[in-house]
Amino acid sequence: MGKIRFAFLWLFLALCALKSAAAARHFEVGGSAFKLEATALGSAEFVSLYDLSKALGGSLTCDEWTRCLEMKASGKSFRFMPSSKAVLIDNDDCLYLPNAVTEIKGDALVSTALITSILPEYIKASGKGKASQGGKKVVVIDAGHGGHDTGAQGGGRNEKDITLDVAKRVRDLLTGMGYKVIMTRTSDVFLELPDRSDIANKNGADIFVSIHVNDAANTAACGTETYYLSKVQVDNDYHARRLESSSYGYELRRRWKAMTAKMKSVLRQQHYQTTQQKSKLLAEKIQRRLAPAAGGDNRGVKGKNLSVLRNSYCPSCLVEIGFISNWSDRKKLNSSAHKQAVANAIAQGIKDYLK
Ligand SMILES: [Zn+2]
Repeated sequence: MGKIRFAFLWLFLALCALKSAAAARHFEVGGSAFKLEATALGSAEFVSLYDLSKALGGSLTCDEWTRCLEMKASGKSFRFMPSSKAVLIDNDDCLYLPNAVTEIKGDALVSTALITSILPEYIKASGKGKASQGGKKVVVIDAGHGGHDTGAQGGGRNEKDITLDVAKRVRDLLTGMGYKVIMTRTSDVFLELPDRSDIANKNGADIFVSIHVNDAANTAACGTETYYLSKVQVDNDYHARRLESSSYGYELRRRWKAMTAKMKSVLRQQHYQTTQQKSKLLAEKIQRRLAPAAGGDNRGVKGKNLSVLRNSYCPSCLVEIGFISNWSDRKKLNSSAHKQAVANAIAQGIKDYLK
């Protein structure tokens, strides 16, 4: 009994401390000003998500099964998960708060950074949506492999070097077209697959394109193909399995650590439905330009359940620009003129999609 009484006393004191740490703060979003009780927890400041929804003239709902919280305000949807820093906006953009959403006494507390740095981008006085980065679309270009991960090898060449060379050419072309381009790597370094998609997620990318060189036991296989995210594995080649195995353990350890299995499946399903069609269209636009420019067989657009695509919240695809295992493709990929033509086709395909 003593222990229980002590626990109650402790809880009472903790609540008093919490109350005394709360202070009224003034905020302004989309031209309207409001006041909220802000609570200091450690060095961070939080407000009640419920109070914020009311202040914005919106609503807050909670899915009892997933515990996912959805705030609707100014025609936008903002989804949060307890213990997660992620904010999913209109089932499309994923941004990160400096602190995870915290539950206290059944109330969900969210970092004030949501109001000061995220909401102003989405809730405008005019009611207009997100302001893109200086009006520029953001494209993330991922040069496959790097560092100790050489990728496929053939004729003394490493896939990682060819992908970086072509990725830089694509970057320069897209920059010239007026897009903001972010590279996952610009030198010979290794990056885990979830880190590559995190770069797209953190920068609010409009699209993510990963560049690779193909490899096959059948040395007659040649030409290009482009993959988009699909649950259906169209074939089980070595490349796909290798990509999957290198990221899976990492993903479970870090990014998804705080989420329940149900939450993960819900998020994946949600992400899959909203981006799959866009990703397929992006893949088609790129492949349509790439196949005639690169020559060899047009192996088409294919769905594959690839981790590098699954973890990004924007439409994404993986381009195979030729076979390192094929003599003719490899010879072409040694030529600067050919690499430039391939880069130009990828950039044009991206432009076709974004316009
Ligand atoms: Zn590869």
